[in-house]
Amino acid sequence: ENNLFKDIVAHAKEYGFVYQSSEIYDGLQAVYDYGPYGAELKKNIKELWWNTMTRFHDDIVGLDSAIFMHPDTWKASGHIDSFNDPMIDNKDSKKRYRADVLIEDKAAAYEKDGDKDKAQALLDKMGQLMTDEDMEGLRNLIIEEGIKCPVSGTDNWTEVRQFNLMFSTQIGSVADDSNKIYLRPETAQGIFVNFLNVQKTARMKVPFGIAQIGKAFRNEIVARQFIFRMREFEQMEMQFFVRPGEELDWYEKWRDTRMKWHKALGIPENKLKFHIHEKLAHYANAAVDVEFEFPFGFKEIEGIHSRTDFDLKRHMEVSKKKIQYFDPEISKNYIPYVVETSVGCDRLFLMLMCNAFTEEVTGEEGNEKKRIYLKFKPALAPVKAAVLPLTKKDGLPEKAREIYKQLKSMHNVVYEEAASIGKRYTRQDLIGTPYCIAVDHQTLEDDTVTIRDRDTTSQERMSIDDAIKFINDKCSF
Ligand code: ATP
Repeated sequence: ENNLFKDIVAHAKEYGFVYQSSEIYDGLQAVYDYGPYGAELKKNIKELWWNTMTRFHDDIVGLDSAIFMHPDTWKASGHIDSFNDPMIDNKDSKKRYRADVLIEDKAAAYEKDGDKDKAQALLDKMGQLMTDEDMEGLRNLIIEEGIKCPVSGTDNWTEVRQFNLMFSTQIGSVADDSNKIYLRPETAQGIFVNFLNVQKTARMKVPFGIAQIGKAFRNEIVARQFIFRMREFEQMEMQFFVRPGEELDWYEKWRDTRMKWHKALGIPENKLKFHIHEKLAHYANAAVDVEFEFPFGFKEIEGIHSRTDFDLKRHMEVSKKKIQYFDPEISKNYIPYVVETSVGCDRLFLMLMCNAFTEEVTGEEGNEKKRIYLKFKPALAPVKAAVLPLTKKDGLPEKAREIYKQLKSMHNVVYEEAASIGKRYTRQDLIGTPYCIAVDHQTLEDDTVTIRDRDTTSQERMSIDDAIKFINDKCSF
């Protein structure tokens, strides 16, 4: 299973999807760059999310707020005081770990050995210690369980300390503490502080939502599993403002709507599940994660939370500005309640890569052929079609270029004439291009081309006009 994940990571690099940041300087941990095909895929994910959230919901509008915010924002939101992870160092290896993750790994090991009850008991114990913020208790649990450092193999642990995940920097030219600002650890607060601006200027009536896509930064202690946990990543969040008392209905609606969305990406039903939070954050009255089955297990990709009026109320208290909504239908002033959907773009990217990566063995025993291809839904694929002249002569390139030009204005398509047609097909399979259009001698006679399907490798002949219609049709959502 982990070999599968290694193959996926290697594939992502080899074929221009994801590179380690600053690789020539030996890389920067948990920071990644997206290559040409990765950038296209990521753009497609964001576009799809944005379009479904804003264009297809008349009651949701978009926002693009700044990464830097007034430092009081983070006082109000609780991030300065409590956006912490418990960290522990191993004295021998000098490696730093998240105490809760070490314990979770141990529980996973119990579960793997078939001891589900023991795993659950351990997780419950840890959950309680985390809720109580009992750092000494966490350390004792690590010692009791005999958890060893994965690197040094020893259990020579330091005490557990709270570690704040926000990055900070200075604004202006004077480096003193009063100029300290943070890189936002979530996009949501930009939405909360703009609640009234948006409501008034876009003339919105509760219930309505605000959607935003943007970078977020967290100084994650354990950065593992490739782009699953990054220090710089992108979130796609939507805060939906509702009448107090109606939030749980909206919560259920959004929970189901978002699950449908993930399925529409082509993710099979059995690879997605809900994980209901039993222990709720103090500001939430309902919370659920959507989880996807990565090669390393079911993990969160999106959170849907009913956050009550916690955030708006806190901003009102700290800013001393009145943040209220007058509801003309019931002639009442109130602080709206919030249901949020929060998904990581990079995690969706990883989900789609894992889901698309397909290895197929064909042919007879002793003479097997392995084919690797990325089975993206056509609308999400980085390249929608490749136009390929069979040979470089007899006017085929010119004809192929005409078709390429026609498609180019609507889709990201490529034209390629080098190498054998088989090699060119393989190359497109590896980056997940759903269709290849081959131009041959018959094309010159009757204006027909063949379209090769990535998944079946079967070919169909049709007129150029039909081929263009076909691509338009198959590559839209
Ligand atoms: P986790 O428990 O995995 O740390 P979280 O519960 O802290 O995540 P939220 O704060 O709810 O995550 O953020 C919402 C979404 O943002 C997550 O579901 C995930 O998709 C994404 N996300 C959060 N942290 C990261 C990260 N370090 N790297 C990539 N994506 C992230």
